[in-house]
Amino acid sequence: MPTAVEPYRGTRTMVMRPFVPSVRSAKAGAERARRATGQVLIRPIFDRQLTLLESDLAPKARGFLGEFKRMTKVSKAVAPATSSRAAAKRELPEHFKAYKHVWVFVEQERGQVHPVSWELMGAGRRLADKLKVDLAAVVIGPEGEATRDAALESFCYGADLTYLVTDNVLLEYRNEAYTKALSELVNKYKPEILLLGATTLGRDLAGSVATTLLTGLTADCTALDVDADGSLAATRPTFGGSLLCTIYTLNYRPQMATVRPRVMPMPDRVVRDAARIIIHPLNLVEDDIVTKVLSFIPDRDSEISNLAYADIVVAGGLGLGSQENFHLVRQLAVLLGAEYGCSRPLVQRGWVTSDRQIGQTGKTIRPKLYIAAGISGAIQHRVGVEGADLIVAINTDKNAPIFDFAHIAIVKDAMQLLPALTAAFRARLLPLSRAQIAS
Ligand SMILES: Cc1cc2nc3c(=O)[nH]c(=O)nc-3n(C[C@H](O)[C@H](O)[C@H](O)COP(=O)(O)OP(=O)(O)OC[C@H]3O[C@@H](n4cnc5c(N)ncnc54)[C@H](O)[C@@H]3O)c2cc1C
Repeated sequence: MPTAVEPYRGTRTMVMRPFVPSVRSAKAGAERARRATGQVLIRPIFDRQLTLLESDLAPKARGFLGEFKRMTKVSKAVAPATSSRAAAKRELPEHFKAYKHVWVFVEQERGQVHPVSWELMGAGRRLADKLKVDLAAVVIGPEGEATRDAALESFCYGADLTYLVTDNVLLEYRNEAYTKALSELVNKYKPEILLLGATTLGRDLAGSVATTLLTGLTADCTALDVDADGSLAATRPTFGGSLLCTIYTLNYRPQMATVRPRVMPMPDRVVRDAARIIIHPLNLVEDDIVTKVLSFIPDRDSEISNLAYADIVVAGGLGLGSQENFHLVRQLAVLLGAEYGCSRPLVQRGWVTSDRQIGQTGKTIRPKLYIAAGISGAIQHRVGVEGADLIVAINTDKNAPIFDFAHIAIVKDAMQLLPALTAAFRARLLPLSRAQIAS
């Protein structure tokens, strides 16, 4: 068992606080927490949260937390004491001061841009406007129309300029080549903030780029903001989703963060002419790349669920009582042209496949309509559905937590209500098209 922990060099300051219910209000929560703490109470808050958590924990987990506290105490003694973020910030070396502007990595694979890239352009625009700097898109891919189109499209989502790296060795995503392309761009043009989607590709790339550049990376953020000092405040859930922590990369650049699809709203697409495109050569030949792609076999299930981007989602939870009863959820979903989903215990019991799980460790959704049947609304489920325009919850318990954030609360047995809803919708909606239903 280690006796000392070196703090991760990129991320030096964490402000932890109890979960703030709405992701959208995380910004206000962060501000409140900062005002309350005066940015000094990081350690006391941390201790208090651990104590709170301990009271609910099984002995084994308590043992782990005790060990964790001991380790962090040792690390505090070893690390130079910084009483506030302001003090830590003075350490930013001179050569990092040239780092300016906000960048978004535009993820494209096989000619398709992942929509999370445009969602991040919206978030990046807000950060860039606050910092009064440019927002740049970074497009990396093979030579050809698809990569060029992605570069041009980035202007429609707010880019002031776009960095473009094209080379045929970039045809398939390979970590080595993409890491080299992105790291070299950063070293040459020096952005202060770099955002990537928390997709399979984005997570792989972000980790290796952060390691190559020796900077901090905050993964799976639920909110991004710029604080009064101009530092990126990257907020993400921690301790199983029961706490939110805001992480600052004070002493290294760029400040990197990944965000999962659908966490940020999609900005409007506004047709705009291309502004500035900066082309950067890759200077990498196939022989230099160790990984070879022999063939591409698409995931058999990848097309099955489109939960994250569905307009209507119907989901079921443990309140359904059995796997057989889950067909009531599917029936209603099919009728509405919706996707179906579930809470985590249903996946754990093998009732539903994992690609259907909604929540912190599943998918984040932003449908126009979300119908949740027999779901209690635990915090880990809530963070995945809060972006829905209209939440209809069906639960037999009038005190279920889901009623705290549902727009329409129905206290009723789901086994009776779901078939009744399906019948009623069938009578009213069948003549309509899916698009009409969704609107
Ligand atoms: C690290 C971590 C990550 C997690 N990630 C996720 C995640 O991504 N997604 C997720 O969902 N959970 C996640 N969880 C689990 C989460 O904490 C909850 O345990 C889970 O969401 C509860 O699922 P549930 O609402 O289906 O079940 P329960 O909490 O058991 O709720 C069932 C509900 O059904 C109601 N009910 C009972 N009978 C009926 C009926 N006949 N009709 C209508 N209502 C009825 C009950 O009143 C109750 O409110 C995570 C937990 C941890 C620790």
